[in-house]
Amino acid sequence: MTARFLRARFLLPMDDGIGRDTRISDGYVLWSGDELIEVGAFDGLVAERLTATWGERLEVVTSEGATFFTTDLCARFPCHDGVLLPAFVKAHGHDHEPPIIGLCRDLPLTAWLDGVVNPFTTFMKEQRDVLADRLGRSPQSVAYRKARLDDIWYGITSAMTHHCNASKYYVDDLVASAEEAGTRLIAAIGSQDRFYAAHLLDTPDEALARLDAAWEKHGAKPRIRIVPGPDQLFSNGPEMLVAQKRWGREHDTLLHCHSSEEARTTAWFCDTFGMTPVAYAAELDILDDDTVLAHQVHSTPADLDILAATGTCIVHNPLANTILGSGMPPVVEMIDRGIPLAVSTDGSGSADNQNILAAARLASQYQKARLQDARVLSAQQALELITVEPAKLLRIDAGVLAPGKAADIVLVDLSRPNLVPTRTINLVENLIWATDGSEVRLVIGGGEVLRDGERYLTLDRAEILADVQILSEAYDAWKADAPLMSGTGANQ
Ligand SMILES: [Zn+2]
Repeated sequence: MTARFLRARFLLPMDDGIGRDTRISDGYVLWSGDELIEVGAFDGLVAERLTATWGERLEVVTSEGATFFTTDLCARFPCHDGVLLPAFVKAHGHDHEPPIIGLCRDLPLTAWLDGVVNPFTTFMKEQRDVLADRLGRSPQSVAYRKARLDDIWYGITSAMTHHCNASKYYVDDLVASAEEAGTRLIAAIGSQDRFYAAHLLDTPDEALARLDAAWEKHGAKPRIRIVPGPDQLFSNGPEMLVAQKRWGREHDTLLHCHSSEEARTTAWFCDTFGMTPVAYAAELDILDDDTVLAHQVHSTPADLDILAATGTCIVHNPLANTILGSGMPPVVEMIDRGIPLAVSTDGSGSADNQNILAAARLASQYQKARLQDARVLSAQQALELITVEPAKLLRIDAGVLAPGKAADIVLVDLSRPNLVPTRTINLVENLIWATDGSEVRLVIGGGEVLRDGERYLTLDRAEILADVQILSEAYDAWKADAPLMSGTGANQ
């Protein structure tokens, strides 16, 4: 048995066992395979013990060209000028969107879905063979590999991907991207049977057959999970939603769906069904602590009561909610009521990036301004909402550095000018308020180094970037002659 060791000037375990807000000076992590075995403060005694116990079987991980704070105690255990913390957990995103960044031009949600997302995923579906000939791999695979590249860039090693609209047909390509990258994937496989582009509509039987096939093929893989992911509450009828929730309960797994993202869609829902989306979902008995709703921007007080009583989980995506002009959910009130909540990025097409630290910052910033109260949603809480909280909500053993948990770790470089001076007292605050996201220097997933500085160890960065540029230009050419789409939700 061998072990790997990494040491840095600071360590944030985010672990309830020792207190989530514990800030350790001169910390280290030790792991074997994909599991952490020691996490704590480093000193001469630890150096002696590790040397005696592990000898040559201990590999000291270092970041190439990094700044070292000190090499005292033992030259064998250099201390990076950085902070070690759990790798980030992304609870909601869309991996078909990296090629369409910058195309969400001042459009509300459903107009953007009809104007950009649905045409783009339709383009990839219709042109799959032609593009595969040109690219040497499927266009979907190009998009999903770019999503993995983006995630790892920002220190994300676990992601729930809402694999919706025309992407739902290409689960194998999505799973392959995560296996290649070495990241953890929860694939929420989409469906819709109304109020959406006609060529994407399913029957409940078709949607369940797609889930069964994916479960059969990928369900037993250690870092892959398959869950039902009806696209929207408005685009799935009651039979579809109930059938998918039943499937989730039978397989003891989550259900993931968008909800109450856009005011005019929520209003349209009330006009059509005579109740809010949350009340409607509760009446169908599809809300419980295994249901994860993305957004839930527009909530009545009664909606919050239902969410709290059922334990329904919410994923808040402030980057997308602001760019699409959707509004902002009452995050502070939700947390106060004990509603499980995580912060995420959403897809790159509406975010328009995967900088999850920026998402956490915006979540905190917006709530402070909304409530005119600087005391709410602290930097500590914001960091918990992209690590320990989403891991709990997604039921994965990550988001925390503690023995027995996943060896999913990031090292954030503290030698960057924007992060000097950092001390224990402003460590978490600087991560949330002073970073630009590019300070993530070392990314470890499943115990393996996935990125060291500019160098990716599992993905061919140059190839992926070249492919995605070709794909986006091919889309521009196709879109110029494509018929306009309309029919999604409030954009009908
Ligand atoms: Zn979304």
